[in-house]
Amino acid sequence: MVEKNPPAVEPAAAVVLSRSEHTISRRNIDPDALKILFRLNRLGFTAYLTGGAVRDMLLGKEPKDFDIATDARPAQVKKYFANAFIIGRRFRLAHIHFRGGKIIEVATFRRDPDPDVLDLLAAGSATQYAFGTPAQDARRRDITVNALFYDPVSASLIDHIGGLADLRSRRIRVIGDAGERFREDPVRIWRVIRYAARIGFAIEEDIGSKIVAQRDLLSACSPARLFEEFCKDLLGSQARPVLTGLKDYGVLRLLLGRIGEAFQTDPQLFNKVCSLLDIADREKSLRRDPGLTEMAALLFWPWAESLLISAPPDPYTVLKKAFMNAEMAVALPKGLRAQVIDVVALVARMIRALHTGNMRWSMRGRPQFALASRLCFLIEQNRAPEAGESFENLFRQAFPARPVFGTKRRRRPRKKKPPPQ
Ligand code: ATP
Ligand code: MG
Repeated sequence: MVEKNPPAVEPAAAVVLSRSEHTISRRNIDPDALKILFRLNRLGFTAYLTGGAVRDMLLGKEPKDFDIATDARPAQVKKYFANAFIIGRRFRLAHIHFRGGKIIEVATFRRDPDPDVLDLLAAGSATQYAFGTPAQDARRRDITVNALFYDPVSASLIDHIGGLADLRSRRIRVIGDAGERFREDPVRIWRVIRYAARIGFAIEEDIGSKIVAQRDLLSACSPARLFEEFCKDLLGSQARPVLTGLKDYGVLRLLLGRIGEAFQTDPQLFNKVCSLLDIADREKSLRRDPGLTEMAALLFWPWAESLLISAPPDPYTVLKKAFMNAEMAVALPKGLRAQVIDVVALVARMIRALHTGNMRWSMRGRPQFALASRLCFLIEQNRAPEAGESFENLFRQAFPARPVFGTKRRRRPRKKKPPPQ
């Protein structure tokens, strides 16, 4: 059965580019995303590709994920797609799950809520928001280059707010009044810095000064939501440039408390972080994506190293206390924090062993040993290890005569008993 919501009315001002006027090809779109788009269309709904996928394809980059905007309500999406799950506290949307952990987000066109609803949303007491037209949906988005729509049926590109012009002039422009949009949702401050850094676009001066004037608002955001954003940057393709952007705008100290303060005020420390993240970003570009624990351990290593330099009796307690005292706005889940502490304590032990020749090889039984070994290699060699390379190689090079646990010990030849006389 074909179901249709009231048709969306688009303002005459929208710029629509036909297939021959833009560079997006269906071939570059995830086949599952295309299937969802066409299916929604066959059911009588309007459905566009939007967000980072359209932006990245126009820039000739491979999109990280494919977000869909539609006039189908979340419940309707759930009804027609067996693998759809409704999620979201602030805004309900559908996640459609595919094999291999792939998730495609399908959000209903919406408009910015009224100020009183915004207050309720901020207080966490309202989950209602108003659905809207595609034009309203474009206007409620964060930056112009993130608000383009691609219609797979006509293969046309739809621009309601000047995103195409900004793409051409390589600038990041906040939709609406930047000060107001940052007040509404301070995470947009972070997002502006992120996308400018990721795609190498300029942030206009007046937006830059608003970021500086309003950045403190980030400290009041939900620590769990800030952690979600933190993961996007660590796992995203350009962790180093984004971190540099956050530092340049004085945002790091707000997000990472004392650790961020140290990054902002100690250029040597920050350079170390940058060179480690550069290596990780290179790995990502080769499709050897580091995991979250690895990325977090790399980020925190230069700071942790300074605490562990003097071989404290219990590095775990030292690091745990230091993390607690850091007063980060980003809430690291306990499990992740514990893993990071394990890894960096092991790395410190390994690096010391490379200077002293004393290694407790029984540590090999620790769950994080393999990851610590990889990081130790990466820190010492300024490159990720190739298959088969590890801390043991470095140890053997430094101390060829010392035994390595697991390899056969060289035994002294037994003295032959003198034959009985
Ligand atoms: P990528 O997925 O490559 O990181 P993206 O632009 O797709 O980039 P998402 O976090 O996936 O980023 O968000 C999808 C889209 O939703 C964005 O492009 C933007 O249009 C909109 N959006 C996300 N967060 C906000 C926000 N806080 N305020 C307004 N719009 C937002
Ligand atoms: Mg996205």
